[in-house]
Amino acid sequence: MSQPGIPASGGVPTSLQAQNGAASASGSPYTNGPVQNALMSSQVSVSQGYNSQLSGSYPHPIPAKTLNPVSEQPNYGDSQTVSPLSNYQGPGRTINRPPVASNPVTGSLHSGPVPRMPLPTSQNPAATPMPSGSFLRGANIPPPLNWQYNYPSTGSQTNHCPRASSQPTRSGNTNLTSHQYVSSGDPSLQNNFIKSGITSNTNNGSMVVHNSYDEIEGGGFLATPQLTNKNPTMSRSVGYSYPSLPPGYQNTAPPSTAGMPPSSLNYPSGPQAFTQAPFGASHLTASMSGLSLHQEGLRVVNLLQERNMLPSTPLQPPVPNLHEDIQKLNCNPELFRCTLTSIPQTQALLNKAKLPLGLLLHPFKDLVQLPVVTSSTIVRCRSCRTYINPFVSFLDQRRWKCNLCYRVNDVPEEFMYNPLTRVYGEPHRRPEVQNATIEFMAPSEYMLRPPQPPVYLFVFDVSHNAVETGYLNSVCQSLLDNLDLLPGNTRTKIGFITFDSTIHFYSLQEGLSQPQMLIVSDIEDVFIPMPENLLVNLNESKELVQDLLKTLPQMFTKTLETQSALGPALQAAFKLMSPTGGRMTVFQTQLPTLGVGALKPREEPNQRSSAKEIHLTPSTDFYKKLALDCSGQQVAVDLFLLSGQYSDLASLGCISRYSAGSVYYYPSYHHQHNPVQVQKLQKELQRYLTRKIGFEAVMRIRCTKGLSIHTFHGNFFVRSTDLLSLPNVNPDAGYAVQMSVEESLTDTQLVSFQSALLYTSSKGERRIRVHTLCLPVVSTLNEVFLGADVQAISGLLANMAVDRSVTASLSDARDALVNAVIDSLSAYRSSVLSNQQPGLMVPFSLRLFPLFVLALLKQKSFQTGTNARLDERIFAMCQVKNQPLVYLMLTTHPSLYRVDNLSDEGALNINDRTIPQPPLLQLSVEKLSRDGAFLMDAGSVLMLWVGKNCGQNFLSQVLGVQNYALIPQTMTDLPELDTPESARTIAFISWLRDQRPFFPILYVIRDESPMKANFLQNMVEDRTESALSYYEFLLHIQQQVNK
Ligand SMILES: [Zn+2]
Repeated sequence: MSQPGIPASGGVPTSLQAQNGAASASGSPYTNGPVQNALMSSQVSVSQGYNSQLSGSYPHPIPAKTLNPVSEQPNYGDSQTVSPLSNYQGPGRTINRPPVASNPVTGSLHSGPVPRMPLPTSQNPAATPMPSGSFLRGANIPPPLNWQYNYPSTGSQTNHCPRASSQPTRSGNTNLTSHQYVSSGDPSLQNNFIKSGITSNTNNGSMVVHNSYDEIEGGGFLATPQLTNKNPTMSRSVGYSYPSLPPGYQNTAPPSTAGMPPSSLNYPSGPQAFTQAPFGASHLTASMSGLSLHQEGLRVVNLLQERNMLPSTPLQPPVPNLHEDIQKLNCNPELFRCTLTSIPQTQALLNKAKLPLGLLLHPFKDLVQLPVVTSSTIVRCRSCRTYINPFVSFLDQRRWKCNLCYRVNDVPEEFMYNPLTRVYGEPHRRPEVQNATIEFMAPSEYMLRPPQPPVYLFVFDVSHNAVETGYLNSVCQSLLDNLDLLPGNTRTKIGFITFDSTIHFYSLQEGLSQPQMLIVSDIEDVFIPMPENLLVNLNESKELVQDLLKTLPQMFTKTLETQSALGPALQAAFKLMSPTGGRMTVFQTQLPTLGVGALKPREEPNQRSSAKEIHLTPSTDFYKKLALDCSGQQVAVDLFLLSGQYSDLASLGCISRYSAGSVYYYPSYHHQHNPVQVQKLQKELQRYLTRKIGFEAVMRIRCTKGLSIHTFHGNFFVRSTDLLSLPNVNPDAGYAVQMSVEESLTDTQLVSFQSALLYTSSKGERRIRVHTLCLPVVSTLNEVFLGADVQAISGLLANMAVDRSVTASLSDARDALVNAVIDSLSAYRSSVLSNQQPGLMVPFSLRLFPLFVLALLKQKSFQTGTNARLDERIFAMCQVKNQPLVYLMLTTHPSLYRVDNLSDEGALNINDRTIPQPPLLQLSVEKLSRDGAFLMDAGSVLMLWVGKNCGQNFLSQVLGVQNYALIPQTMTDLPELDTPESARTIAFISWLRDQRPFFPILYVIRDESPMKANFLQNMVEDRTESALSYYEFLLHIQQQVNK
């Protein structure tokens, strides 16, 4: 292709298309999930290697005496006794499969000739295309049609009021009741809970979990008799009960900000003057405002004349065109934003705009202030289960109208009392109605089993290759340093597995003098020796854990074992965690070679540059299937890949993708040769180990009647139509969804979107975090364009393009990206502009659209003509899918600053630190000069390019060198010098780093250093060997638009 990125002229234009498979909401054949597995005969489970027949306690209590040999007290701890492979097995115990057949439940211990039966089609994810993953092909790859016109049928999957029609009408108030909630996360909660009888059968706990989360979070809770009837206290109807005391209400912030007033993030909060009654939000017309659109926003820009439209300060999301009383209550766009801040009232109008409609979410983001409500009454719409929010309307003091389905609901008596103001009769001033982002402490009705304890299992590759990288030292040290900071409580459990060609378990039973290694060499049919001693209470066995972490790095130093049985190790880890759920952290350094899940090299270096024929799809469904089993048992798998060679991340990544985990990638990790990666891993592990975590989570997104959600992007499994299953949720994960307008919104002035994330905190509390976003509905194309959010649009397009790359091809995806710009700007030109001026006329809101799409074409995920390695490309695609928008945009269109002349002018002042704010520069070498120094922030990497004639002042006062030639070839740290220049530069760089959860490495680049190519690669506006310059791209777009 001579002009990459440009669709062949005359060819059928390709566009991104609503993916009709993977994660679309079109009914999951796996709806019942691995529950079915549990219902299958144990033999089938066994033969598949995943035993789903799990009980609440460890299912396979193998008496130690059946293990062979038993008496030997291994002493691997003494590193002197450890020597080559043949010996390291010695200190540990090699466990032979015990000859057990007596207990049918311990199916995994069968060693007999159990026939390997295939899963029945209905339960075999391989046999039935999975509609959950956007990385995988759907059932039928739809023809390459324009996505704007082709939404999968959503008739029965409308997201609003999911159970409304099927629910029996009930008299009285059906809101959750005034059942007193015990807010502590200790075992007493569990006891209460068990007494309440919601679920006492832990044997099929997993089944209950499966079938009922939907009902708890979803629409059917009250229609579930076993939940209401089994607990008489719960069935008390609020509508008839008058609590004698005000509800226990607590409006707390996280510990660091305890005592601060409640607030919805940056938005003013607390008691608001906004009057809800009698006229609610929906009575305010969007046209009343229009104030938020500044004059400039209405401007039409000719991009060929005004190319430099990049603002000098970070681009802010557009402010929805709402009355200020509503807008000030709206959700922070960092958490929840829409590609179109003005919603077209019909699908026809949306089709005309040729812009994608969707939401981008960062639902579990770390927040400085978060209102938390502990109340026995969580007020939700009786029809659609929407949580009461700032955008409902109060018809009077006793009735509120749902802003999603318009049902009129009663205000529960308890809700009449406002604990903030201590006034009765002000339901509209309750914190739930004043904060678009709020967290509820969930009463026991929101639990299907006792909240699970935090469980952390670490799985380490200890093959020769792994030992060579020296990563174990770093990781074990990091774990030792952060052991007390792991989120959790007295119930926290921890365990370790290592593997090469065999699998090694570590008994950490309290009372042992030292950890005990158990080796299972049968990787064909893995079983768990001593399951009760392998995942142990962290507090009780802390010394043993520390002992193990200190010894582990030395244990395998002389190994010659090169094989990697990753698949069997994952199966073992899954079995170990199944009874509880939790987080599995896997470190892998090479292509797995043994047992199930073994992979073959597929990368052909000479095909790297080709946009076709590259292996973006997994070569086996093993990792996906196992991930789905994990999801069913509330286990998430995080993969740390540290590999210099091709490791088939396209296949391996599935283990994290479908289990709601994350992928971390450190290419060419080596403890000596690559100190920068070592530093990066340490910093990122620190964050990983100590950040907040939510367990056994589900998320549902609801929207106003008439809108419909049809495709989800991110790491999760779609359970029951639109319920995202998130065995773990972490604060660094982003999600996106695509939407369509299913029914005309002509009678509606405002629409709302609400995400609800139900999770178990590391303290064992069940919590619900709710975000609600409100947007105006518009009837003209011009208004749709005016409200376009170009970053959100680019982010959603990137997600769609990843799907497209996988289901069709990379070049299809690239063409579709280009066409997205052409189509929308053509629509603008032909339908909005009255006089056809020459040039490339764009609405001000989309002035950066061509630039961002060009940046996407040059991003690692979608670029061509480079030496991008396959795993690096796949990793970039994983990042597109899993990163919150703000980081995705930085990776795509980095920020460039001149830093050799930093001043305090316009600086931020944070905690007595002065942080300079240099202006943003366009990404073009035109902006560089040899007498300066320029910092490029590309998200995961910072590059400081120093020009040849850079001033002496910067060299000596910031870099600490006397002249240019003395700048070290590899410099990844700035010295802390006692000069104002040094202080400013370091303050700025630290501030940039503090903005994100991962650790960007800093490279100082001299003019002749090899890293300069990477720096220049990010100069999006410049021409490269294989890609157009920004100006050429604009000309091409103009040509197509004016056709
Ligand atoms: Zn409703």
